[in-house]
Amino acid sequence: MTRPINFCSGPSQLPLSVVQRMADELMDFRGTGISVMEHSHRDPMIVALFAETAERLKALMGIPSGYHVLFLAGGATLQFAQVPMNLLPRGGRPCYVETGIWSEKAIAECRRYGEPVVIASGRSSNFTDVLPADQWVVPEDAGYVHVTTNETIQGVELFESYAHIQAPVVADMSSHILSRAMSVSEFGLIYAGAQKNLGTAGVTVVIVRDDLIGAALPITPGMLSYQTQAANESMINTPPVGAVYVLSLVLEWLEAQGGVAAIELVNAEKAARLYAAIDGSALYHNPVDPRVRSRMNIPFVLRDASLDTAFLAHCAEARLLNLKGHRSVGGMRASIYNAMSLGEVQTLIDVMADFETRRA
Ligand code: PMP
Repeated sequence: MTRPINFCSGPSQLPLSVVQRMADELMDFRGTGISVMEHSHRDPMIVALFAETAERLKALMGIPSGYHVLFLAGGATLQFAQVPMNLLPRGGRPCYVETGIWSEKAIAECRRYGEPVVIASGRSSNFTDVLPADQWVVPEDAGYVHVTTNETIQGVELFESYAHIQAPVVADMSSHILSRAMSVSEFGLIYAGAQKNLGTAGVTVVIVRDDLIGAALPITPGMLSYQTQAANESMINTPPVGAVYVLSLVLEWLEAQGGVAAIELVNAEKAARLYAAIDGSALYHNPVDPRVRSRMNIPFVLRDASLDTAFLAHCAEARLLNLKGHRSVGGMRASIYNAMSLGEVQTLIDVMADFETRRA
């Protein structure tokens, strides 16, 4: 059976060689005769796996010294709470840039612990655009500025620098981490659920600058304290070893591709081709301002929505899966993360063109 092309927004397609390696190693992890998931997390081999994985991530992302890499559970959603719980005690107002559904959720969660200030919002454009970062009005007493640097549902990605912002910038990079070079030193804290560009659900990567690791709000469970997690090497309790293992394989795969700089070129080309196909068509439409169009998540609608079902059936026949848009916005969405090749994106473009020609 040929493998379908999976455009799911997450959990998403993994590199085939990673899936093959998981299958190969499932019965015997590093000559131990048992799978990685059956080892104690206190086993030196698993402790080493965590350390190696953090080192690989540091090298790939160019994480400078002075940052901790944590492997936590609870998904990126738990970070919506964990960020304010850990950063509010430092003082200052929690500031948020509202770019779409995921930032809305982060803001709503912050309201449980503080009073978030929305310093820029794309709401008036129905989240198809947002003010450039150099026009955000950051209050002097900002405690941190939270940015969803890629909105997975609306397909809005911010490409700018945050170096001018004094307060620590906290970024939800769940859906585009490792897709292109980012200057980590511009951020106080970066978090990302793994099930898109990093591997599989179950682990959330948190990269936090050391000076932001401190006492959390008193109500914070120990499990949710960055300080306690950092002091315990992300092993306060039984961590998601299987998910960290998959992450390690994905990072190794990315190294073999030539790292972030190399994948960035492929990602730019994939997105450029797909947007050109959409913009050049009479049937498909993407409403996002070209300045902030995501390279990872490309939503589009059919101008004649009565064709939606037929379009999805046509794609399914060509073994292109999960192109239906998020239930909150409808339409279609192609998520084309690192593991999606240029050839696979071209197949989608060809199938879309074929559908349009037949309907013309
Ligand atoms: N933030 C963004 C940008 C996301 O895309 C998602 C998931 N699609 C989340 C947060 C929530 O992630 P999780 O399901 O890991 O909690």
